[in-house]
This record gives sequence, C-alpha cells and structure tokens, in this order.
Amino acid sequence: MMHSIAIHGGAGTLPRADMTPEREAAYRAGLAAALDAGFAVLERGGTSLDAVTTAVRLLEDDPLFNAGHGAVLTHEGTVELDAAIMDGRNLAAGAVAGVSHVRNPVELARAVMEHSPHVMLIGAGAEEFALTRGIALVPNDFFMTDTRRAQLSSVLAGDARPANELSALGTVGAVARDRDGNLAAATSTGGMTGKRYGRVGDTPIIGAGTYADNHACAVSATGHGEYFIRAAVAHDICARVAYGGVTLAQAADAVVMDRLQKMGGEGGIIAIDATGGVVMRFNSEGMFRGARAADGTREILIYRK
Ligand code: ASP
Repeated sequence: MMHSIAIHGGAGTLPRADMTPEREAAYRAGLAAALDAGFAVLERGGTSLDAVTTAVRLLEDDPLFNAGHGAVLTHEGTVELDAAIMDGRNLAAGAVAGVSHVRNPVELARAVMEHSPHVMLIGAGAEEFALTRGIALVPNDFFMTDTRRAQLSSVLAGDARPANELSALGTVGAVARDRDGNLAAATSTGGMTGKRYGRVGDTPIIGAGTYADNHACAVSATGHGEYFIRAAVAHDICARVAYGGVTLAQAADAVVMDRLQKMGGEGGIIAIDATGGVVMRFNSEGMFRGARAADGTREILIYRK
C-alpha cells in the first residue's frame, strides 16, 4: 500500500516522426511539473483530491495541452471546456460542461462537488455558480493559441485528418491514492477540434471519462469521447475490478484494448487501484502520461515502451 499519482496529457495520434526533440522536451517538462506538484501534495500528507486538483490545474494552465489555456476550438472558433472530479471515499462527484470563461474548470467542478447539491452544471449556469464561489472568469480568447487556431483552419479547410487526430493531444487528467488510502480522479478538456457548438464529450460524464471508488479504482480517460460515453469506460473498468474478480491491469486491457478497440474508439486511460498500483493503457499511437509512487518509481512517457 502506498501513495501514488498518475497523470495524462491526452492520447494522441501524433506520429513519432512529427515529434522533434524540442517538442518532446516541452511536453515532458509540462508533464513533469504537474506530476511532481501532485506527488508533493501526497508526500506532505495531503489528500488525493488535492493532488489531482493540483496536477490538473497545472496542465490546464500549460498551453501545450488541450484543457484550459491552449484548449482546442469549436467549429465556431470558440472554446468550450468540460471537466470533472470524483472522490473515491464517498463517491461524491462534480462536473461542468460547456463553460467558456472559467480559467481552471477543474476548480469549478470541485466547487460543484463541494458546495452545491448537484453533480453537473453546464454553460451560463455553471459560470454564474463560479461567481458565487469567487472563481474568477476570463474572456473566451484567454484560452486561444495560434496553434489551435491553425488546427481549426485545417479542419475547416477539409483536411483529410479526422478532428480527433489533430486534437487528441491534450485532454488532461490525474488519478491518485493518498496515505489514507483514498482514491480520486479528475479530468479536464477542450474536447475535439471543430466539435459542434454545445457538444459534450466523455470527460465530464461521471462513469465515462472520470470515475473513482475506493473499493475498486480511480480512472481518467482521454480519446474519442463519443465512444467512451457509450462504453461507460471509467465505470466499466472499476466495475470489473469491484465484482469481476480481475486485476486493474486485466480490466483496463479488456476495456481499452478489446471492447473499445472493437467499437472503433481510439484513446486510453490512466488508473490507480486500492493499493496504489498504477495502470496506463491506450490503443492509440501514444499517450502523454506520467506516474510517480512512494516506492520511488517515476516515469514520464509518450509512446509505447
Ligand atoms: N475525450 C475528449 C473528448 O472527447 C477528447 C480527448 O481526450 O482528446 O472531449
């Protein structure tokens, strides 16, 4: 039994050939900063909820990743953000969808969980709630970067690559187990480039992109959200662990490498079990990811090992 954390910065199909040493170093630095900050929270006895919030907030602020600042653009050229957080201790959960002015959507999701009787708030209602909690709003163009504008243009110009291929490089998430044995998961995203205005992906759907239950595991997903919603990916993995009599690795393999793959759903997950063991699985070419545990393990990876 140990405290540990895993993070992801999106499952992508960025071909290895397109990855220059400079780009790789920048992605690794962003992942390392979030991983180490989240782990430091656990080291000093903090909760898994605080660890995943800290890690995801840093990834939201990093323009390289598709969440918060640097999120992908909708078909209309705006940014719409989704996020969720879940507490494995008591199955409390909070989520927001379609917010366009909240700098750190994970913080708002946590406020929904801790300070409202609801699980999910969307759009204007979510942002009004943010104001009542003293969470600052920013203009929508705060989130936009030239890279994301160029990606949208290429999608609108009918680039042959599916939107997923351009965008799936940065949904962010974290899962953690703290010293008290509590699990937590958090996920945050801008969704997929060129998505329809109002589209909500799997990220904020509890049981699809995000789930945590102390008796099973904590999961944060990334990938083609429509498939992850229909396969209820995060909950399916936890359910297999809770009453399917399999290990987390077996459950993740069955869902990500078999079930999802057969449906045509590209992407992956990071997960942590009740003992603090980490599993990271993806059926895409790569997934930005990292894990660190009390036993001294620390790894940051992009492609398959
Ligand atoms: N899962 C996210 C969504 O569909 C996108 C991604 O992870 O790349 O909104």
